[in-house]
Amino acid sequence: MSDYQVGFIGIGNMGWPMAKNLLKAGHNILKPGHKLAVFDLDTGRVAKFVHEEPNAASADNAAALAKASNVIITMLPTGPIVRDVVEEVLGAGALKPGTIVIDMSSSEPVGTKQLSDTLAKAGVALVDAPVSGGVPGAQAGTLTLMVGGDDAAAIERAWPVLQTMGAKLFRTGASGSGDTMKALNNFVAAANFRAVSEALAMGIKFGLDPNLIIEILNVSTGRSFTSEGAFKTQVLSGKYAAGFALGLLTKDVKIASDLAGDLGVMAPMCSVVYNAFAHAREAMGYSADFTSAHKHWTRDLADKTKT
Ligand code: NAD
Repeated sequence: MSDYQVGFIGIGNMGWPMAKNLLKAGHNILKPGHKLAVFDLDTGRVAKFVHEEPNAASADNAAALAKASNVIITMLPTGPIVRDVVEEVLGAGALKPGTIVIDMSSSEPVGTKQLSDTLAKAGVALVDAPVSGGVPGAQAGTLTLMVGGDDAAAIERAWPVLQTMGAKLFRTGASGSGDTMKALNNFVAAANFRAVSEALAMGIKFGLDPNLIIEILNVSTGRSFTSEGAFKTQVLSGKYAAGFALGLLTKDVKIASDLAGDLGVMAPMCSVVYNAFAHAREAMGYSADFTSAHKHWTRDLADKTKT
């Protein structure tokens, strides 16, 4: 009989639909009678979630959630926040040996590795399983998952839980390898986004129709996830609401840029892309949608006398 007692910390833009899918697909893997324990600093969100989901129960804090769980999922903004939350829970004696912590946030690989070593001493396994596919992928349950970790048995046990939230799961290797892959992916996606912004600025200044530029790119070799998704549905429509904060994407490119430095790899494009996003974040704010970076850049891109 299935004995998964899962707790979910962080039901924001991504965590909410992921936890919903876990409940939908995971009813046959959760221990009979176990309600998905949910915790988020935003108590209003938690109240709304448990109201909508009768098989979820709110936890008063992360330690209470941990006590009721043998698998704990974190979907929090940053690696340092994940480490603060998990180390506090560990310090409170709320993590039983044998517990698996699955961090699905986009965290820094170095910090993940350190947390994995700390938890291993307490008999707790850490799996890094960051995701790609955005809010639409989280809602559809079609996310790509990049799964790293040092404890193969824990990964095997976590697998059915992970499968409830994603469609394409990859084992990437040791602890931090999932986070590494995720940072590389987001660097490439961010570089694409910046490249399309520059192409649009040039095309528009020449007199091309922006809708035509994106339409042609999307059936040509220049197409990418961002030209097909972000530009078509968010930028051209003026919605700027993809559901992914500019501060979070900038954080991801910084992780990739730091990684290049740590590894001694020359990655000048990564620095350029990071600086472009960091400027946009300063101007538009951490919580602005990442697609609004285009709005910020547009002013400067059309005037080459500016940076
Ligand atoms: P979000 O800001 O919408 O959600 C984060 C949630 O964590 C919020 O509900 C917040 O209240 C909660 N929180 C923050 N600190 C907390 C704490 N100490 N204890 C408990 N709850 C806390 O962010 P998101 O867009 O859902 O992203 C989550 C993670 O997933 C990030 O690492 C992000 O980089 C990554 N990610 C996001 C997307 C996307 O499209 N939004 C896609 C892939 C990966």
